[in-house]
Amino acid sequence: MIKALSEDLRNKISAGEVVENPASVVKELIENSLDANSTQIMIVIEKGGHQTIQVSDNGIGISVEDLPSSVMRFHTSKIKELKDLFEIETLGFRGEALASIASVSEMKITSNVREKDGYCLRFVNGSHNGVEPAPKINGTEITIRDLFYNTPVRKKFLKTPRTELRKIVDIVRRYGLAFPEISFKLIADDREIFDLNREKLADRIDKLLDPTYSKNLLPINITKGDYFFSGFIGNLNLIRSRPGEQYLFLNRRFIKDRLMNRAVYNAYESLIKRGEYPFFVINLVLPNDQADVNVHPMKLEVRFNDEWRLFNLLKNVVSETLQSILNTTPSFDASFEFPIDDNNRFFNVPANTLQKNIPVTSRQAELKPPSSESSVVPNNNLKRAREYVSQLAEASKENENQISVENIWQIHKKYIISEINSGLVIIDQHVAHERVLYEEALEAFESTSMASQTLLFPETLVFSPDDFDGLLDVLPYLEKIGFKIKKQDQTSIRIEAIPSELSIGNEKNVIREILDNFLKDQKKYSSFQEGLAAMFACKAAVKAGDVLVKEEMQELVNRLFSTKHPYYCPHGRPIIVQLSLHELDGRFERH
Ligand code: ADP
Ligand code: MG
Repeated sequence: MIKALSEDLRNKISAGEVVENPASVVKELIENSLDANSTQIMIVIEKGGHQTIQVSDNGIGISVEDLPSSVMRFHTSKIKELKDLFEIETLGFRGEALASIASVSEMKITSNVREKDGYCLRFVNGSHNGVEPAPKINGTEITIRDLFYNTPVRKKFLKTPRTELRKIVDIVRRYGLAFPEISFKLIADDREIFDLNREKLADRIDKLLDPTYSKNLLPINITKGDYFFSGFIGNLNLIRSRPGEQYLFLNRRFIKDRLMNRAVYNAYESLIKRGEYPFFVINLVLPNDQADVNVHPMKLEVRFNDEWRLFNLLKNVVSETLQSILNTTPSFDASFEFPIDDNNRFFNVPANTLQKNIPVTSRQAELKPPSSESSVVPNNNLKRAREYVSQLAEASKENENQISVENIWQIHKKYIISEINSGLVIIDQHVAHERVLYEEALEAFESTSMASQTLLFPETLVFSPDDFDGLLDVLPYLEKIGFKIKKQDQTSIRIEAIPSELSIGNEKNVIREILDNFLKDQKKYSSFQEGLAAMFACKAAVKAGDVLVKEEMQELVNRLFSTKHPYYCPHGRPIIVQLSLHELDGRFERH
């Protein structure tokens, strides 16, 4: 016989979907508080929520007339007709949460609307005995005890209080990040976990994650057509080898979306390896008709109308933002100086602000300092100097971070030190050279080959048949980076020339190592070319321990600053460390 289910049983069944664990209860209650325009929300937890979950707010409250219906299934104040469903401005809209939670716990709601008396409603065993008078609290307080006491199977599936608490903390953190203008307090077993007052998002990130984060953030605030993107992305200091700190919101609703995560990762390009995850808090603000959040009550998935458009826009937004770190880090001064008037005033021209797109070789020719004997300034020099000065004025860049290659030293055969106006910079010679060769190799793959030096005595190299197959894949690229190699027979090659930057003598080892490492590690890189370029750069770059003369250091620094990413090596580690005068003065207690 087919019978209608009782209201209580229906609620218990839908509770199976809505109320998964204490954290999902906390989620629903916080959303209700936010929908009620609260500015302060307090969450109190006992025993990971097994025993008590209480959420109180200072929102608009529930009137005494509405109290009983607030806990009835499909009763909501948030949508009235079908069209509202497509223009949802609130976090909740199904009218299921309170009913579901009440059916699997003991619930008490206390509330009042402004200027009205307070009332409460107690729910036991899925029903209540009407509203009772209660003290005014100017908001709403919902207390849940003994979650799942009447559904023993579900209770059994609850994790330990510690694990459940961790999930609750994650939930509160998400809302904290999405609503930095709201005060949140989270207390668990009398311990204060968060005490957050209205603040800027960057400060909120520090409080919710780690106090060093805000120093490593790049802001996003970009409009693309009818889409708006805001939030922060982390610089390379916030890259982790495990996922978990990727906060994506759609109109301030936390969502999970692999494609959009991928868009962000892709924008970091070679700055991150596979298996590395950048930090971000990004809110996508899309018109309501561009996404459907009504997919599943608990799921964090949404459907975008045009996910590829969003993917591309998001990727571009993050790329643009990453570009901005590179532009605000110090610019490079090749210190060619033009005496331009009788008072011998000098103007330093930051090379990479003016000459970014000129290829390295022609730049170097131009960067030669004028000879110091020339006491009379030739006319054309004067003209060029004036041009530069006016360009400088237009560029209106601050010069305080120019690197002077005149004052340059090597220490411990490992680091290059140079003075800048605001202090000093320390450059790791190996990773600096690595970055240079890496980008030059990538470029060479696309266009003309890198320079070679011919070997006086060509070398023969024999491989196992397996390795030889691998080598054949790599061979065209080896040629691009400056090797000249002839196939001799089915398993051997003849090396006739090597990249001019490679020191002669160990080319056999280098080729073998490039091949071995490349075959072993290529999965780490997003493309064949990147992997090969990185491997070559690592092998051919100067090492710690190599002595560099002044001209070599100057050349290296020159070339470093003509790369796209002079501040980080292909693996994301820093190349340059800056020490400001300010910092030094502080250390010496010169205040
Ligand atoms: P929904 O949020 O989908 O509307 P709920 O079951 O979560 O459904 O809540 C039912 C109704 O109870 C809401 O529509 C709202 O009118 C009211 N309500 C719940 N919590 C609060 C609160 N903290 N402050 C004010 N009203 C609330
Ligand atoms: Mg709700």
